[in-house]
Formats: sequence, C-alpha cells, structure tokens
Amino acid sequence: MSCSISRLQEALARFDVNRVRGEFPVLSRRMGKHPLTFLDSGASAQKPLAVIERINRYYSEEHANIHRGVYRLSEQATLAYEHARERIARFLNAPETREVIFTRGATESVNLVAATWGRANLRAGDEILLTGMEHHANIVPWQMVAEQTGAVIRVVPVTPAGELDLDAFRSLLSPRTKFFGCVHVSNALGTINPVETLVREAKAVGATVLIDGAQAVAHFVPDVQAIGCDFYVFSGHKLFGPTGIGVLWGRADLLNAMPPYQGGGDMIKKVDFDGTTYREIPERFEAGTPHISGAIGLGVAADYFAALQPAAHAYEDALLEYAVEKLTAIPGLRLVGTAQRKVAVCSFLLGDIHPHDVGTMLDADGIAVRTGHHCAMPLMKTLGIPGTVRASMAFYNTTEDIDRLAVSLERIRKMF
Ligand code: PMP
Repeated sequence: MSCSISRLQEALARFDVNRVRGEFPVLSRRMGKHPLTFLDSGASAQKPLAVIERINRYYSEEHANIHRGVYRLSEQATLAYEHARERIARFLNAPETREVIFTRGATESVNLVAATWGRANLRAGDEILLTGMEHHANIVPWQMVAEQTGAVIRVVPVTPAGELDLDAFRSLLSPRTKFFGCVHVSNALGTINPVETLVREAKAVGATVLIDGAQAVAHFVPDVQAIGCDFYVFSGHKLFGPTGIGVLWGRADLLNAMPPYQGGGDMIKKVDFDGTTYREIPERFEAGTPHISGAIGLGVAADYFAALQPAAHAYEDALLEYAVEKLTAIPGLRLVGTAQRKVAVCSFLLGDIHPHDVGTMLDADGIAVRTGHHCAMPLMKTLGIPGTVRASMAFYNTTEDIDRLAVSLERIRKMF
C-alpha cells in the first residue's frame, strides 16, 4: 500500500468526508453526463446547508435594517449582525470584537488600508515591501498609494520552488520599510508562508504589517495574535460563506487613528455643514447599510469550518499527498510550486498544451479547475510561464475527484 493511501486511511478514520459532502448540495450536481468534480475552491468555496439555511431564515423571518431601529425586529437583526462580528473575532483570536470590520472582501479590505493608513502614513522615499507572490489585490492598491505619496515599492523575490527568499527579505528590510504586505497562503501555488517569522522581523524595523489571509482561511484557522500582524484580511466566499462579505481585522489603536474610508450613515457621531465628527471602530469603517445577511452567513461559515478542524486539515494534507503522487505519474505533467509547506493546491502544466485548453477539455468531463495567471501576473513572469492549471482542493474533495482528474488529463495528453 502506498504511503499516501495509508495516510489517507488514517485521516479518514477521523474525518467522515462523505457525511461532510452531504452537507454541500451543489456537490451532488451533474454536469451533463458527468458528476461535478469541483476543484476550484481556491477561487470560491462551496456553501454548506448550515450557511444556506441561516441566510434563508434571516430573510424569511428576521430581516430589518440594523442599528437605527427602535422596534424588536430591527433589534434582533442588529443582535444577529453583531453576534457574527463576535464569531469572527473568536475565529481569528482577535483581542477585541470591535477590531473586526466587515467589508466586501479581501480586495476591499486591502484598498481600505491602503487608502486610509497608507495615504496618512506614507511619505516620499518610504518603502512598501511586498512579495513576488502577491495576488493583484495586494499589489495594485499599494501602487496607487505609491503614486499618490511618492513611496517606493520593493519586492521580496520568490524561489523556483515557489517559496519566499528569506535572505533577500532580510536584506530588503530597513528603517525605510514603513509597510510590509504578505500573502499568508499563495493562491497560485498553495505555498504557506512563515508569517510569524516574517512579521516579527518586519516589525523589528518598525514596519506596519498586513497579512492577506484570503486563501489561508479555507484551510486552517488563523490566529492573529500568534501571527503578530497589524492587519489581517480575508473574503467570506473562500471560507464557505457568502459572496460580497469579507473582513478587515486590525489593531484597535491603528484603526481608530486612521481616517475614515467612506462617508455616510452609521459612521458619524454628528453631522453639521460646519463639520462632521466620526465614530470609533467598527462603525467608523462601515458606512451605509452593510451586507447584513452576508455577515450572519459568514459567522456561521467560520464556526462550521472551525468545528471540522483539525481533522479536516489533516485529511486535506493526506489528499494533497495522494494528488501529487497521482499527477506526477502522468508523463509530461510538471507541478508548479513545490514548497515544503503547502495547502491542498496543485498548480501544473501538461506538456506544452495551453492551460486554457486543458481547462476547457477537463470541463467536458465535468471537472472544474482554474486556468491562467490566477491574478498573480508578477509571479508567473518570475516563473517564466503564462499561467497554470490549478486544481484547488477543499476538505469535501475525495480521492475519486483526483482519480477522475488524472484519467481526464491522461485522455487530454494523448489527444496532443
Ligand atoms: N488575495 C488572495 C490571495 C486571493 O486568492 C484572492 C482571491 N482570489 C484575493 C486576495 C481577493 O479576494 P476577493 O476577490 O474575494 O476580494
């Protein structure tokens, strides 16, 4: 018996993947004559019944606008929304619940920090340190701020295996480094970065640090206090929750010192044409009617995911090992990203077949993968490739999913 099979059997004794799959209605869909093989959770994860039913109940029984109502229905909706904030604070091990700001997603969270903290704190000649494996969401907002402030962007290089070059990181750090932004888990390669070490060293030179947890939260529960960062961002839809909702966690003192991002209702203390004063966090950064059902659904998703750990993560690790064994046995298949610490993501190239062609042909077999640059064009440039095919797994994937992927890839390979 291969090593990956025995590890899988051990993991399956603690994690009932078939029961869990039954909680995700979409996974029983068929795509034409094939069962759906969903291997694109990195782009957006599927939703369990607990989340779907909670949102249904909210709209069926509880909806009213929050915070301003004096009637019971509004008070109940407010309680549910604020309870979601508590759940997210617990999920992240945040020191304070008010440090959780609901946004539209990781993208908006980074833009919020760049536009407020960035514009208020960066000056000409200051350095913004990013890594060569950032998603565009943690690059472009900083380029915009650099243009506005005269700050300069520096980049930590990535090794051919898809890891950060730590020596280069250290040599880039200096008292000029005012900000360090780093992805916790690479969406394109699955690399888990050693964020505790990176944060400690960046903070030692006085940098403010943001960690992009968009991909991490789908695979393990992050602890912002252990990481030691100043900001942590993620999107609800990658954590098995709704789209259109996300989180910015930040240290209370930093957030309260930042100018507001958007103006409007709920974020003010007093409005007068002679001058307006703003509330403290979290309302300071939540102008207007928020995505109430999204926040409530996300709270449920976070609890659902956390309750499956650590068994789900151990299962995913074993599944990754199985997938690597299966895929690397296919002649001409090259894995891209072979970091020591990885989540269950296999990015690869099949001979010289264009990734989009591979993706389209996999779809004909009911297999959903992502193809292209994965919003990480600078990383693709470093690796010297236009893009990859990415199979990103979640705890609801099975060895059958991987077997179907391998059979289909063999079929495609033989067509060329
Ligand atoms: N960062 C990373 C690492 C991501 O993978 C993504 C989504 N692919 C984002 C940021 C942006 O997330 P969203 O589109 O949900 O705002």
